[in-house]
Amino acid sequence: MNRTLLGIALVFALVCAAVSAADGRWTIVRGQTMTVVGDQPAETLRDIASRLERFRLGVTGLIPNAERPLPVPTVVFVFGTRKGMQPFLPLAKNGRPAPLGGFFHRDADVNYIALSLEGFDESLPVVFHEYTHLLVRNAVRAVPVWLNEGLAEYYSTFTIAASGASADVGRPIVPHVRLLRERYMPIAELIAVDAGSELYDEAVRRSIFYAESWALTHYLMVEVPDGPAQINQYVADIARGRRPSDAFFDAFGATPQKFDDQLRRYLAHPTFRWRGFNVHDRVDVDVNDRGRTLSAGEADAWLGDLQRRVRRQREAATRIEAALRLDGEAAITHLALGLLRIDEGRISESWPALERAVAIAPDDFMTQYAYGASLLREVVQVDGMLADATALAHSQAALKAATTINPYASEAWSWLAYAFMLDDDQLPAAEEAINQAIELAPGRLEYRLRWADIRILRGDVASARKLLTELAAVTTDRTVSEAAQRRLDALARSR
Ligand SMILES: [Zn+2]
Repeated sequence: MNRTLLGIALVFALVCAAVSAADGRWTIVRGQTMTVVGDQPAETLRDIASRLERFRLGVTGLIPNAERPLPVPTVVFVFGTRKGMQPFLPLAKNGRPAPLGGFFHRDADVNYIALSLEGFDESLPVVFHEYTHLLVRNAVRAVPVWLNEGLAEYYSTFTIAASGASADVGRPIVPHVRLLRERYMPIAELIAVDAGSELYDEAVRRSIFYAESWALTHYLMVEVPDGPAQINQYVADIARGRRPSDAFFDAFGATPQKFDDQLRRYLAHPTFRWRGFNVHDRVDVDVNDRGRTLSAGEADAWLGDLQRRVRRQREAATRIEAALRLDGEAAITHLALGLLRIDEGRISESWPALERAVAIAPDDFMTQYAYGASLLREVVQVDGMLADATALAHSQAALKAATTINPYASEAWSWLAYAFMLDDDQLPAAEEAINQAIELAPGRLEYRLRWADIRILRGDVASARKLLTELAAVTTDRTVSEAAQRRLDALARSR
């Protein structure tokens, strides 16, 4: 599903956005892999961080490579009430806040999750669904669409026992079962769907598609001995460019047509099983940060940045400019302003703000990373050619700092590789940086494109061509396969 979803249809009134967050005390808590900002006491925020950590560890025990840290930071916004969250919801086509109990927003530099405690149990599956997409995308090279959605739905039912020590995953999703008992799509059709398929965009077919993706995944994960291993084999075969139906037969031991009978019988069962597991024996996931109360300006800067990212730019501008007047000493207020100015196209005004943020918080990953990557995107290069050597030096320094602060952030390593690529003397460093990124996030194919670019610059066309040929054959990510093909065409022309 897309990055924002969840229709728990609510009748709601349009609430005027208060300019300041002033009502309620805002607190920030930092966990191992995420930051939580909320209008709630630190204890509540710690509890939410622990749940999300437990989810991450629960899922990562089951997907190879998924235990790797995410490439960019995750920030969770917690609102006590749905009303409090309204000014920060994405707007629907009618201009009103979308009726969401929670949402997930993925950006190049950060993942934002927003949820309200009111209706918490309904928002959690959405967050878990999208979080699964993130973990899978990071870990696995080429995931077929049905499996990507199937896993996300499967893990969306993650439930933690009150003690926090055990959890389970894979409880049946009753509406899916009901729908499939009435409407069913042959598996051959299901597995042929790719991101460009029309069916993927059409409402009714889409509900069947999601439901059945879930059902097939559920069956494989829960009922088939070695099901998870078979899934991995299937994914590996698809990544090698095999046809979905052939890969299906080899991995699951039956043609899609034969498998239809099994799946339909499964869906007719009156009950379904699911898996329980112990969370505590994996790792200590408790979040111990005592938390810190945010100044009113800091709170508004965080919230304004959230508004900007969900495209409520005018409200974001008002809030962020107010934040700066309230607290001119906090890095986040300058960071939010700098990013806002870039969004507004007022590029030259963004640098003083970002530089100020870096000066205040040189040890903050998000700040260094945003500054370094923004410089690269906006001024250092034009069409891949170096345009500003001083800006390049600043950007290299900021990205180096970012990868030192958080050596697990593959995205920062990838940007750093790009910064080094623009510098002929730094090509070996560029290659080292991109290798780091690939090692951290083997699922991210765009890092491999960059690796090929660097090999070409270093004169090793043969190995670049070999990898590009593989990437051009990928069927699960058209952006990447097309980019690889363009490079192959360019290489052919330059011979
Ligand atoms: Zn999805």
